[in-house]
Amino acid sequence: HAKKLGRAQATVFDSAIQTSAQSRFALERELRSSINNDALDVFYQPIVDQAGKNVVCMEALVRWNHPQRGWLSPIEFLDIARGSGLMYALGECVLRRVCEDWSEASSSGIQLPTISVNLSAEQVLTVDLPDRIKEICANKRMPVGALQFEVTEDSIQGDSGIIEKVLEQLVQAGAELAIDDFGTGYSSLSRLKSLPFSRIKIDRSFINNLPDDENDCAITLSIIGLARGLGLSVVAEGVEHEAHEAWLLNKGCDYLQGYRYSRPLPFSQIIDRYYSG
Ligand code: C2E
Ligand code: MG
Ligand code: MG
Ligand code: MG
Repeated sequence: HAKKLGRAQATVFDSAIQTSAQSRFALERELRSSINNDALDVFYQPIVDQAGKNVVCMEALVRWNHPQRGWLSPIEFLDIARGSGLMYALGECVLRRVCEDWSEASSSGIQLPTISVNLSAEQVLTVDLPDRIKEICANKRMPVGALQFEVTEDSIQGDSGIIEKVLEQLVQAGAELAIDDFGTGYSSLSRLKSLPFSRIKIDRSFINNLPDDENDCAITLSIIGLARGLGLSVVAEGVEHEAHEAWLLNKGCDYLQGYRYSRPLPFSQIIDRYYSG
């Protein structure tokens, strides 16, 4: 292509590639140092129950406040973290932050609900993950029983022996387990059956077009039925509109998460909005 476009354009093309490789390299370096300095942030998004819209859980979602670029969301840096082997360290950084926030609330007399933390494939494939989690929680005076962990279908595709052991130990330590983005990944129902999940989170791509899209209605309804049949609770992600909520409540979805209730918020705003006064 470069040849056909002529010299001037080819130069622009080359330097664009170079810049992006450079900025990717810079981002990687900055991300590594932010992780090492425990400088990542965590926002929290409420999950509410169907009856009173009470906050029963909050999902912890990583954010990076970059010195030049400002607040970055996971789509802007998780690929870099994955590509540079930083996912395990990122996960520990997030957990430490969650524990600190929890303890801070607790010492001012605020009892937070269960906090749901996303785990990566790298984490669930690490045999001493449960011990590390228990250690971090103990250091920060956070009960493991106040945690839920979310894994996606794709993150549990690795060595099933290790993953089973790791997840079993987390449950034994008192944590709950949820399967995240359900319906979008590669996973079999036998995997769902053999791992100690207590909750299914329906991916928001199925919720988006409720109740107009018949296929999405059928899929969502069958996931709710599957959860019921297996004795699991079910959360709908990405609930944005009243029509989503009405349909889901009518079909007996247990819990709801989405912009309709709250966007993910910094810890201080969560406290102000839900736990002060
Ligand atoms: P997820 O675990 O499925 O988290 C839910 C995502 O949906 C969040 O995006 C949240 O902001 C967004 N969301 C919630 N309600 C709505 C809604 O009503 N409409 C729309 N359009 N979006 C909504 P976020 O924070 O950008 O995170 C994206 C993904 O990054 C997460 O998806 C999760 O897979 C990953 N992630 C975030 N934090 C962590 C972490 O600490 N560790 C790991 N391993 N992955 C994380
Ligand atoms: Mg999640
Ligand atoms: Mg999800
Ligand atoms: Mg999702």
